[in-house]
Amino acid sequence: MAFKENQVVTIDFSLYDAEGNLLDSTHEDGPMSFLAGQEEILPGLEVELAKMALHTKKKVVLKPEAAYGPYDPEDVHVIQRQELPQDIELEVGVELLAEGDDDDEIPCYISKIEGDQVTLDFNHPLAGKELHFDVELLEVRDATAEELEHGHAHDPSSHHHE
Ligand code: ZN
Repeated sequence: MAFKENQVVTIDFSLYDAEGNLLDSTHEDGPMSFLAGQEEILPGLEVELAKMALHTKKKVVLKPEAAYGPYDPEDVHVIQRQELPQDIELEVGVELLAEGDDDDEIPCYISKIEGDQVTLDFNHPLAGKELHFDVELLEVRDATAEELEHGHAHDPSSHHHE
């Protein structure tokens, strides 16, 4: 095992879909750190990372079931344009927070705009996608007391929060 629970792991990755389209990458903003065992990243990816040796690269493929689940075509709502607040940018791909029954906020995104009808998709944007990761295991260190208390890694490149 390259690392164990409560260690901070730093990786570089590029994420592609099954067709080879780049979905996400650390190569713009710098490496990503996470606290092992806290489900900060997809569990399926973390299992594969733990099998790697430090400073090596690997391809990891996750089926939708091991990633963000299958795509549910029923989990969409078609609403009228005027039901949305005026200040919202009406464009496919824009992410919104819809108000749920208990005043909780449910993330969704605009998946289609047709005339006055706007389709809101409540699936995770990566639902139904097979994920292809190119990962490099860069660093493993013990978590600080503060990180353990917060339950997440503190990325050296990002400023601290409350
Ligand atoms: Zn924190």
